[in-house]
Amino acid sequence: MHRSIATVSLSGTLRQKLEAIAAAGFDGIELFEPDFIQFSGSAGELRSMLSDLGLSLDLYQPFRDFEGMPQAQFERSLDRAERKFDLMQALGAPLVLVCSNTSPVSLGEVDRAADQLRELAERAARRNLRIGYEALAWGRHVNRFGQAWERVRRADHPHLGLILDSFHTLSLNDDPAGIADIPGDKIAFLQMADAPRLAMDVLQWARHFRNFPGQGQFDMVGFLEVVLRAGYTGPLSLEIFNDIFRETPNRRTATDAMRSLLLLESEVRARLQSEPPKAGPVRTELFDPPAMPRLTGFRFLEFAVDEPAAAALGTVLEQMGFRRAGRHRSKQAFLYAQGDIRLVVNAQPDSLARQRFDLQGPSVYALGLGTADPELAASRAAALLSARFDSPIGQQEMRLPAIVAPGGTVIHFVPDPSPVDFDQVDFIPETDGGEGGPLLDCVDHLALGLAQDQLDSWVLFCRAVLGLSPGDSLELADPFGLIRSSGLANADRTLRIVLNVSLSQRTRTARTVASSGSGGSVHHIAFGSPDIFAAVERMRERGTPFVPISANYYDDLSTRFDIAAPLLERMRALGILFDRTADGDYFHIYTESFGDRFFFEIVQRAGAYDAYGALNAPARMASQAQQQAGAR
Ligand code: MG
Ligand code: MG
Repeated sequence: MHRSIATVSLSGTLRQKLEAIAAAGFDGIELFEPDFIQFSGSAGELRSMLSDLGLSLDLYQPFRDFEGMPQAQFERSLDRAERKFDLMQALGAPLVLVCSNTSPVSLGEVDRAADQLRELAERAARRNLRIGYEALAWGRHVNRFGQAWERVRRADHPHLGLILDSFHTLSLNDDPAGIADIPGDKIAFLQMADAPRLAMDVLQWARHFRNFPGQGQFDMVGFLEVVLRAGYTGPLSLEIFNDIFRETPNRRTATDAMRSLLLLESEVRARLQSEPPKAGPVRTELFDPPAMPRLTGFRFLEFAVDEPAAAALGTVLEQMGFRRAGRHRSKQAFLYAQGDIRLVVNAQPDSLARQRFDLQGPSVYALGLGTADPELAASRAAALLSARFDSPIGQQEMRLPAIVAPGGTVIHFVPDPSPVDFDQVDFIPETDGGEGGPLLDCVDHLALGLAQDQLDSWVLFCRAVLGLSPGDSLELADPFGLIRSSGLANADRTLRIVLNVSLSQRTRTARTVASSGSGGSVHHIAFGSPDIFAAVERMRERGTPFVPISANYYDDLSTRFDIAAPLLERMRALGILFDRTADGDYFHIYTESFGDRFFFEIVQRAGAYDAYGALNAPARMASQAQQQAGAR
């Protein structure tokens, strides 16, 4: 498809926006009028800048408050339109977006609007320009595509078509199914915008909270599918008004924008292939990346440390039941193992890991994700615009295809099942497995602390590159502000990632993010335990410091849930937190933080519990805050 984006969607000067758009591989742009009005150059200069960058100018927008006007205003609007047509010709813009009238003096008669649109199209035709008419969700008489189409249909002019915008249709819960009956060649342009579901005024929602397809909660796949089934072959464009995008570096936004379109096209392509054609055939080529192989979970985590931090972290891990299983063949790095969990503690001087340590302190620097086909996983990631990562490897070491996640974390794809024993490929074995079963047997989830402007990037990355699906998003109260928390997981729940954003600058999460330099870092690692009570008992004996939980919490717990008294007393005695949904129970506990950078969580899921105990996070955050206040 011809891929386009509105200049309003990015931060920066017009030139910077266009350079970022071209660098991300777009074919064309929608020029948002204020961007041109504030541009210091002429229309001719903009035109040559676009051609130098290889971008077409697909749409000039918007032209407001035109149709359905009393005669006097209508004639003034025609004069106004002629001036815009002059400009469009100077710019080389073939199409203008006329959005439905919001003026209180506008009149609702369908034929008046159709006649006036026909006259406008006739004027445009004299200059070989075209008019696209769009229903704004807050238009005075026209706010649905069906009403806009009725006016375009009655006007019946070859230079007039309908512009569709997924936000305006889906924000009103209007059913897009009827689009399939509109002749494809009467659809002049398509704008795709997603959004979180918010209960608020639609105008405020539209101006501040739209985001790229795959970042919100609207059915983008269903919308594009129905437009393609109508026979539409024009540009696929993004028009996103978003407060955070206005301040995010525009190269990142442009890459996210392109990634969102590629993901959307590939999802629609898969949908079209799986269903028999309903209306006419789809007449356009859709992006077809390598298929996402199934990911089987976290095979290893790698920590960036220096020598003292390596020793301190080793002690913490041994208290938690890990054994030092090996020493790296070529690097100053150690492997810790327990159950299926493998942790690499990397203190190699002059390495990328050490650079990360110097920047962020002790941190999770790399992840290993299991998959039957690592090369396929990395190829798909690259097709969806992730950078490949190549690290130097020594003799006898395993080469793992790797990519860079937003914010710089390296993700390796690890063969699973592995043809060789991972523990013995890169590492010289040190100790055998300890006696008895493991206290911890898997990585249940990773939680990342993100700056506000990284959340949408990460959601899209997790969906597009890792194939995860978002669950519910929650807002949690820290003593110093709100945290927004969203979990994403794969279909069989072997891979879970939680994204946490602090809406305040004063929370611990915000401080972790601020100290992480590039922003975006693992802020806790949750290990699954087959028996959390036995595990916590042993860990406490060995000196693991857990975050203390108020006695009031357990008194309250017994009023919220029906829990047998002995079980409640065991939880109280060990400091274990509890959550319950209709699907099952969740037992968990948090360790104190390591170097004020990250901490561990021990969890046990019972039944089909599918969340993260987020409602208990305030108990942890309050306790950490009280400890910190006490320490002062
Ligand atoms: Mg629009
Ligand atoms: Mg957690």
